Amino acid sequence: MDPRPDLLGLAPESLREVLGEVVDRPFRADQIFQALHVRGVREFAAMTELHKDLRGRLAERFRIGWPEIASRALSADGTCKYLFRLHDGASIEAVDIPDRERRTLCISSQAGCALACTFCVTGFWGAGRNLTAGEIVAQVLAIRADRELGPAGLRLVFMGMGEPLLNLEALRPALDILGRSISLRRITVSTAGVVPGIEAMAAWERRPNLAVSLHAPDDARRSQVMPINRSYPLAELLSALRGYPLERGRKITFEYILIRGFNDAVADADRLVKLLAGLRAKVNLIPINPDPVLGETMVPPADRQIEAFQQRLIQRGMTVTVRRRRGDDVSAACGQLRAFDRAARSKTAKAKSASQGR
Ligand code: SAH
Repeated sequence: MDPRPDLLGLAPESLREVLGEVVDRPFRADQIFQALHVRGVREFAAMTELHKDLRGRLAERFRIGWPEIASRALSADGTCKYLFRLHDGASIEAVDIPDRERRTLCISSQAGCALACTFCVTGFWGAGRNLTAGEIVAQVLAIRADRELGPAGLRLVFMGMGEPLLNLEALRPALDILGRSISLRRITVSTAGVVPGIEAMAAWERRPNLAVSLHAPDDARRSQVMPINRSYPLAELLSALRGYPLERGRKITFEYILIRGFNDAVADADRLVKLLAGLRAKVNLIPINPDPVLGETMVPPADRQIEAFQQRLIQRGMTVTVRRRRGDDVSAACGQLRAFDRAARSKTAKAKSASQGR
């Protein structure tokens, strides 16, 4: 493993500090930041605005932590899933989702996830490790370079692998860096409801958009599919959200996976409205993406039922969107990121199901 520290996770102030004596003049740090994050330079040798011996000294001491693209899977709908190999061999996935003039990159905050939500394939494979700020930022750099994308029209969602609010230490500097080329208004952090993390973010001076994975309108059902609800039940979660400062015109997004026969009754739509009363909220309905490891009961409702659920929310004055399924032919859809190739996965999944009796 490369022992040199990675420069990609350092915002300009930290970069100035870390580079300290290595550079001849303080403004070099800003030049280097520009080269790394605006030009997307991958090697010190390409920083031709610096003297040759400075480039040499930098390369001796530091690295530029771009991940290796281990594979790329392009969906028929234009969605592209990336499997990245990190420098210690860990792998993560990120997804590029073009949608007319918009473009959303869905990125990971952890390699794996400890929360074990029953509907999510990442959780099925268990905990991994926190990503560093550099590893978070590098996903965006690598996809932008691969697809030749500028920052214009780009949106970022932290809806890949992992729970971003369990990795605030890296999330914060990563947002500081990413927020310099993409407005924080176009960046959304999605949480399973880590209350201390929400409270910490509430105190930040600059915040991205917040999305909360709700998925059930009461504690009994939420705890059944999201074990984290036992630590932070709905009353606590909603009270933290009521205290969360929102800029003008902003709303908290509530993600609600629709699972047939579990949480898709029109009466559940009514409960949801009641639960969110008084919050500046919008609801994003996500028909569940099934997966072989999830079991037969985890299937989406019929279109008719999805429509009825949505209509009820609209009738009751809620802002609602239904998330279209993207990239499911390459397992790039929500909850399908596991950072395994398919063949290896089906073998291991069988072994794992057998040993767990699932
Ligand atoms: N840990 C964070 C972010 C990662 S998950 C969170 O929980 O919000 C991003 C979104 O995908 C969450 O709303 C999650 O609940 C949803 N998701 C997970 N598995 C899914 C599945 N099988 N089908 C549809 N959405 C899923």
